[in-house]
Amino acid sequence: MTKGILIRRFVDDSRIFIDMPDSPDNPCIACGACCAHFRVSFYCGELTGGSGGFVPEHLTSKLNNVMACMKGTEAGNGRCIALVGELGQRGIGCSIYPDRPTPCREFAAWQKDGTPDPDCQRLRARIGLPALPPLPANDLVFEDHAMAGR
Ligand code: SF4
Repeated sequence: MTKGILIRRFVDDSRIFIDMPDSPDNPCIACGACCAHFRVSFYCGELTGGSGGFVPEHLTSKLNNVMACMKGTEAGNGRCIALVGELGQRGIGCSIYPDRPTPCREFAAWQKDGTPDPDCQRLRARIGLPALPPLPANDLVFEDHAMAGR
């Protein structure tokens, strides 16, 4: 792992949205475990189709009058319809990355102090990937942005 992994953090209303880099330093581009495990549910105001949202509505399921989730993840332990590629293999990725819903933006492989996220570690192990190493905090370069759009 090279030094200086640049992670962009967008801050809005005290919420933190993470953009991982599109580079070999990003372990997510050869993983995908979280996108095939959690139920990815979010407020339906994020949907396209009239409410001014951005998550493609046809890729989602309605949970109730206020919540939707990504298709495939309804019951948990299912693969999100937007995930393309083979789990654990280089090249896997989100086909709607700029338009992904909030829970996907909030999940980060590493915390700001360089500690790997415990859920990330657990899910990587489930698909046979090695644990991420803790990184010295100065190996992670967090670039903070005010939220503009999304
Ligand atoms: S929308 Fe994209 S980032 Fe979110 S779970 Fe699906 S594939 Fe993963």
